[in-house]
Order: sequence, then C-alpha cells, then structure tokens
Amino acid sequence: MDNQKLAQLLFPAITGTPEDLQRQFPPRDLPEGAKVTRMGPSPTGFIHLGNLYGAFVDERMAHLSGGTFYLRIEDTDDKRYVEGAVETITSSLAFFGIGFDEGACSDGAYGPYFQSQRAEIYQTFVKDLVRRGLAYPCFLTEEDLARIRAEQEANKETTGIYGRYAEKSRSLTLEEIEDNLRQGKSYVIRLRSSGNTEPDGSVRYIHVKDAIRGDVSMPANDQDVVILKATGIPTYHFAHVVDDYLMRTTHVVRGEEWLMSLPIHIELFEKLGLEPPVYCHTAVLMKLDEETGNKRKLSKRKDPELSLDYYRSEGYHPQAVKEYLMTILNSDFEEWRAANPETPLEDFPFSTEKMNSAGALFDLNKLNDISKDVLLGIPARELAGFLTDWAALARPELVPLFTDADTGYGPDYLTKILDLGRSGNKPRKDLIYGRQIFDFIGYFFDEYFRVEETIPENVSDEDAREILRRYLDTYDHSDDQGQWFDKIRAIAVDMGYAAKPKDYKKHPEDYKGHVGHVSTVIRLAVMGRTQSPDVWEIQQILGEDRTKARLRALLV
Ligand code: GLU
Repeated sequence: MDNQKLAQLLFPAITGTPEDLQRQFPPRDLPEGAKVTRMGPSPTGFIHLGNLYGAFVDERMAHLSGGTFYLRIEDTDDKRYVEGAVETITSSLAFFGIGFDEGACSDGAYGPYFQSQRAEIYQTFVKDLVRRGLAYPCFLTEEDLARIRAEQEANKETTGIYGRYAEKSRSLTLEEIEDNLRQGKSYVIRLRSSGNTEPDGSVRYIHVKDAIRGDVSMPANDQDVVILKATGIPTYHFAHVVDDYLMRTTHVVRGEEWLMSLPIHIELFEKLGLEPPVYCHTAVLMKLDEETGNKRKLSKRKDPELSLDYYRSEGYHPQAVKEYLMTILNSDFEEWRAANPETPLEDFPFSTEKMNSAGALFDLNKLNDISKDVLLGIPARELAGFLTDWAALARPELVPLFTDADTGYGPDYLTKILDLGRSGNKPRKDLIYGRQIFDFIGYFFDEYFRVEETIPENVSDEDAREILRRYLDTYDHSDDQGQWFDKIRAIAVDMGYAAKPKDYKKHPEDYKGHVGHVSTVIRLAVMGRTQSPDVWEIQQILGEDRTKARLRALLV
C-alpha cells in the first residue's frame, strides 16, 4: 500500500505537518518547574462539585508553581452547546475564587480553545499517522459492528475492533478504498494498534507514574480505536493527546473514569512520537448513603449538593467550601490549618502525592462545621455584605431590609445582628450558610417575627401575662445588663418563682418554677423562640420601640 498516496487521498486539503504545529506552539516560556494544567469541560454548562474539586487541584498545581491554568471546551461529542456555557463555567468557578489564565474564556497563544475549531489541527496529525501506516480508514457499518459485537459476546471475547476483527479493514487495498470513497461510503479513521502481545505470547504492560496513584501498570492497548469520526472530528482520546501536547499541558488532572483509557493514550503518544504529560487521576467523590449507610457515588438525581448552584443558592461562603474541599484533597490540611489559623489557604503546600486515591468522602455536616469556623473569622460587616449578595440571588425580597436604613433596618442593623455573641473567648458558632443564617436571625425583622414556641408548662397563661405586664412596666432601655437582670429576678421572686434554678431544684414544692422560666416567657415575647443569644443584647439591637411593641402585642 502506498500510504503517502492514501494520506493524500483522504486529506487533500491538509498541507501542514505536525512539525509545523509544534513550531507554531513551542514550549511555554515559564520558570523551571512551572506546571501547566487545564480544565476540559463539555459545553453543557452543568458544572458540579467534581468539576470544582478537579479545577481546584488544577488551579493549585498551576499557581503554586508559577504556571498556567487554562480552559478548553471539549465540544467534540454530540453534546449540545448550551448558550452561555463558558460564562456559566467561569462565573461558577470565579465564585470560588478560581480563575483561568487563558483559554476559551479569554484567549491565549495556544488556541483555539474550542475543540470544534481545531479540526485542521487534528487532521494534520491523523494524516501523518496514515502516511506512516499507523492509521487507516475503516468502512465498517453500524450493522457490521453490531454483528462483530454479537459474535464476540457469544464467544465471551473482549469487544471492539482488534486482532482478527481488524484484519479486513486493515488490509483494504488503495483501489478498494478509492472505490468506497467514490461510492460515498462513510468511514472513520482507526489507529493501527501494535497490540499487546510480547514475542513470547505474554501480555505486554504499560507502566505509568500517576502523580496521585503512584505506579500504575495495565495491559497495553490492543484496540484499533477510532481516532477520527466520520464527521472529521476526533474522539476524546485523540483530541486529548493532540491538545494536551500542543497546548503544552504538563499535568493532566482528570477523573478516575479515564484511567481505563490510559493505555490508548499512551499508545497514541508513542505513535505520534510525543511526550505524554504527567497524569493525575482523581478519586470519585463519594458520600455515605443515609438509607443504607454504605459509601456511594454522589448522584445528580439524589444529591442536590452535587450541583455547584446548591452552594450558591444555599449561601455557603466560598471560603468555607474551599477549606472543606482542601480537607478532602489533602489529609494533612486540617493539621496545617490548626497550626496556622490565620494563614490564607493559598499558602497551604498542596500536593498531589497527599491525595487519597481510594475515593474522597464528601460530608455536608463536616462542611457545616468548617463553615462555622470560617464565618467566625470574617468580620461582621463583611459578612453582612456577603449575606446581602446571597439574598440578591436567592431571596431578593430581603435585600431592602439589608441595605436600606429607611426600612427601619439597613446594613448597620444587620452588622450588629451578625456580630452578636461573636466576641469574647467562647464565641457563638451559630452561623453556617445564608439560608440557615436568615432562619436564625429572622426574628430581628418584624416581617419575619413569629412566636414559634409555647410557654414553659409550669407557667400559667395568667402568670405569663403578668410577667410581661410587670416587665413592660419596669422596662428601662438604658438599664445595663446587671440592672436588667435584677429586675427579672425581682419579678420572679415576687410572683413565687425561685431566684436561682438550683433553689427550685432542691425544693420544687416551694416554687412555681425559677427565674429561667420567667425569662423564657420574655424571650418568647421578644424573640418568638426559647433559644437565642443574650436577651439584653438582642433588645439593644432591636431598640426600645420594637422591643416594647412586641411585649405589648402579647398583652392585648
Ligand atoms: N471532557 C472531559 C470530561 O468532561 C475531560 C476529561 C479530561 O479532563 O481530560 O470528562
């Protein structure tokens, strides 16, 4: 077979060579040891926690080493391009402080960054493989393929086009191919695999050092995989090899679902005479299933927390999500964080070697715990701004209450609320994420204030009214905390309640209850709930008028 002629027959329009392209996209001018990483999402615009997890690894590797992190849109499969997909991807990641240095979102010297615009580049490499006898056109129809598959399944053989199943297509003559082309028959281009049998008949293995998994050995590829589809567009395998080479990616971070294709990629790199990147196959994100108690993959259908939108709409602070992801990514992060509580996350010496390859366990409760600490470290005024941004997205009706003092509230009011109980050496850790925070502080806003619980059992309705009447009568907004509590205690004693809980516990028969029961009635009237931060402090924030109005409302 005259391969030169075949290559020319199949790709008459391709005039450049792989060498031209290598010259056009030379090694990047970066400092020694700088890593080049990329994210290669499909253009559906759905971006999930796994993407963020991978992107975080990419971003950390590139930026800790002074390298480059770029965005490539992998739109070679038939997946529909969803309008605005690039914007969705960049803004979702930007929310978490992850930015690209170049790529589909901006530009750069190694583009185009949409695979659909790179057909000529791929075909240049394919033409070269055909010319060297390492790839060939295959005219097998869907029916042929189905028949072969059925035969292989019946024989309990590996499916695919390899060995004797590839023979017929491999051995077509130039005349037969020309004839097929004349008849307009559809074809793909397949790799002519060298197979994986050693001369002695044993299986040949590939050995790859994965930056996360360490040494990986797998049987070498023996499949004549499709590299160029009938449309002239490459498969993932071929596009990955060509793009990551020409874009000078040094580290390919991708999900472990690609690990089984690694032998194909290694053979492609070999046949093309190109150096493969360092592979980093990340573990799949798992969670403990609430029903079965077993570990399982996060699922789009069952687990809303898989979608990145979830964190935004629930109002998680991006810093909390990042801190949490880092605890799953690197086992020594928590120790480092405990020793360096104030240091920015960016200074943590992240490393792929410390990543667990056995499956990363995602746990919302753990995220919530981390979030409590992270929010505690954010000044109340800044937190108020964050909450306002969240509200604009998820609860727009709250924005005027958070931003406009004419509503009777405004940013200073919100800031005081968020600062409540946060100073001192045992600060409260009640604030977790936007939606939860608003549930927690909603009673500060009359529109959301409701009495949600009932008075303690041992306090009669009559007593409750009497407590509130007396409290209102003696209320002086300028009382300090001591004076304020003395008054409550006086009301309690006067009405037959013990001044101290322990007195009541010792002689319950002597009292109706204790001072705590009395203050619970007040708490319910002012906050609508029995659990809350310090009542006196809350009243100071609510102000005299609002406090008194709530007390009066229960007396009518
Ligand atoms: N487009 C592939 C995916 O979305 C990218 C895999 C890779 O990073 O190489 O899974």
